Amino acid sequence: MHRSSITRGARRFAALSIVVLRLAGLGLGVAWPWLPASANDAAATLDRAETQVRMDPALSARLAQQALASLGDQGDADLRVRALLLLCEHLSERDSAAARDRLAQARALLPQVRQRALSARAYNCEGELENLAGQGAAALRLFELAVAAAERAQDDAALAEALYQRGYLRGVRGEFSGGLTDLDRAATLFDRLGKVEMRTTTQNSIATVYNRMGDAEQARRYYRMTLQEQQRTGLKRELVVTWHNLGRVNEQLADWPAADEAFHQTLALARELRYARGEAYGLRGLAALANARGNPASALQHLDAAETLQRGVADERLRGQILLQRGVALRSLGRTADARQALLEALRIFEQAESARERAQAHDALAALHAAQGQWREAYAQLEAFKRLSDGLLQRQVDERFAALKLQVDRSSEAQHLRLLQREQDATAHALAQERLAGQLRNGAIVVGVIAAALLAGLAWRLRRVGRAMQRLAHTDELTGLPNRRDVLARLDAMLARGTRSALLIIDLDHFKRINDSHGHPAGDAVLRAAAEVLRAEGAPPAAAGRLGGEEFVLVLPGVDEAGACAVAERIRAAVAALDLGAVVPEGHVTTSVGLTLGQAGDDISALLRRADRALYLAKARGRNRVEVVRADEELSAEASPPAATTPDRSPPSSPTPRPRPAA
Ligand code: GH3
Ligand code: MG
Ligand code: MG
Repeated sequence: MHRSSITRGARRFAALSIVVLRLAGLGLGVAWPWLPASANDAAATLDRAETQVRMDPALSARLAQQALASLGDQGDADLRVRALLLLCEHLSERDSAAARDRLAQARALLPQVRQRALSARAYNCEGELENLAGQGAAALRLFELAVAAAERAQDDAALAEALYQRGYLRGVRGEFSGGLTDLDRAATLFDRLGKVEMRTTTQNSIATVYNRMGDAEQARRYYRMTLQEQQRTGLKRELVVTWHNLGRVNEQLADWPAADEAFHQTLALARELRYARGEAYGLRGLAALANARGNPASALQHLDAAETLQRGVADERLRGQILLQRGVALRSLGRTADARQALLEALRIFEQAESARERAQAHDALAALHAAQGQWREAYAQLEAFKRLSDGLLQRQVDERFAALKLQVDRSSEAQHLRLLQREQDATAHALAQERLAGQLRNGAIVVGVIAAALLAGLAWRLRRVGRAMQRLAHTDELTGLPNRRDVLARLDAMLARGTRSALLIIDLDHFKRINDSHGHPAGDAVLRAAAEVLRAEGAPPAAAGRLGGEEFVLVLPGVDEAGACAVAERIRAAVAALDLGAVVPEGHVTTSVGLTLGQAGDDISALLRRADRALYLAKARGRNRVEVVRADEELSAEASPPAATTPDRSPPSSPTPRPRPAA
């Protein structure tokens, strides 16, 4: 127990010590090779090395070296390649041989790496080495490969770097619009990646392209802006470049005091950073100023120092520029042979680098040299070469400025095109919305139409029903539900029209008035409904029964003879008499008298009704609760004297007056 906690404490102390030492190592930029560094540690160190590239190049290189050492020969290939390429970039402008060595090591490891974008970085560094060696065309091809590899790997960080390199070189070579496009893309990507320092550096390069395009004033404004930003963010290595660029543009604008200040700043800062290449550039600048101010001896001093510094760098164009200033200085000092040699070597370098502007400067200096020697023919040839190059440059500047302008116009018209597309899209969306609305309205209209049609159909159906009900009502007796007088007489009329011989019975309740008087009208109604049911049973088609009015009913029996008709009449009479009406009236039953006649040829409704009524009258007169028949041939005689009784039981009618019958 006790021992294990001591061990644990010791382990903790050891781990803490390692962390402290490692942090101290990072802070001092010192490698601690005896510390166990995992791949994660190496990755973190490399991250830091990458952020320090533009702030503190020496620290960045130390960190990369440290990461590489900690990874060893068997370490993670991706991390080793990252470290080697960082060193390649760092060494490229300091020690090209060492840079090429790191590049070769990185290339050997490339087949093993996971991150495909690393091959883009390798092309970039190789391109930078070619560029510095004055091999412009080769450098451009390598930057093209870097862009393609980064695009294939879909790695924005690598792509931004490659575009930055390619854009700058294109701009320097006079491909202004292409260069600006690349630099613009790179700036956008750096912005998106949050790489503020690279964004600023790119801005600086855009200014350089402006300068090459002949817009020195605009370039100077950009450089000053960049300078302020870099001073704020502490990008010292970048400050060296910007101060130098500002010096160059001031030199071009013949603003000697401003150029002087800028080159001195370049020199001081480069010395502080032990940045030899920057120092050499600063010295070349001061030499150019000394030449311009007529102080060739001072110029040569600066140039000697610059040449010594640039030797390890192998920046060919820088060497060419140093040689150019040396030639100018030597010419001023009358050392024409040396001057000529220096200028011709400078020209060779600029021709190799395909740098038209610098070639023109070399020809110009050579023309002045030959003129000073009175070699007019050679001076003329050099001047002509100068003029050809200057004209070409000018033409190119004009063309490329147009191209750049076109680029801008394209970009803005692209934006406009996009805006138009957007507007078109909005319009389409609007039209779609309208159409959808119209569709909805149409659907709504259809729905409303359907509802209206349904309502109308319902209404029509109701009207039909009401019509039918009204028709039924018009043909039905309300109290008994039997067909009414109109209906039953219409049917009789139709039968007569068809020539159907029919028997007609009028059935009248006996002494019905007494029921009403004694037991009330509702009792009378109930008796009427009970009697109606007897009639309904006998009135099934082809027969037709109905209520004539009051307590009188009618029955039409088509196609029957007298015996048949009498049998039906008797059956009705007996059925009504047999009705048990105890619940309705105290006497418990009612009787009926039936008048019957048979239709004859030539009969009309009036004739039939008249005869049936006559027969009923006889039934009443002969004692009620009986059936009487009046035949057509008896009608006239019956008019004169009462016909013979058919039933024995009779009593005189209570109202013997024959009643008038309305016509159908
Ligand atoms: P008879 O035997 O001679 O036919 O005598 P009656 O009383 O039946 O004949 P009358 O013609 O004197 O009377 C008919 C009565 O029928 C008169 C009227 O008030 C009654 N009446 C007519 N229609 C209705 C009705 O719808 N309901 C009721 N309760 N009574 C009715
Ligand atoms: Mg009556
Ligand atoms: Mg009656």
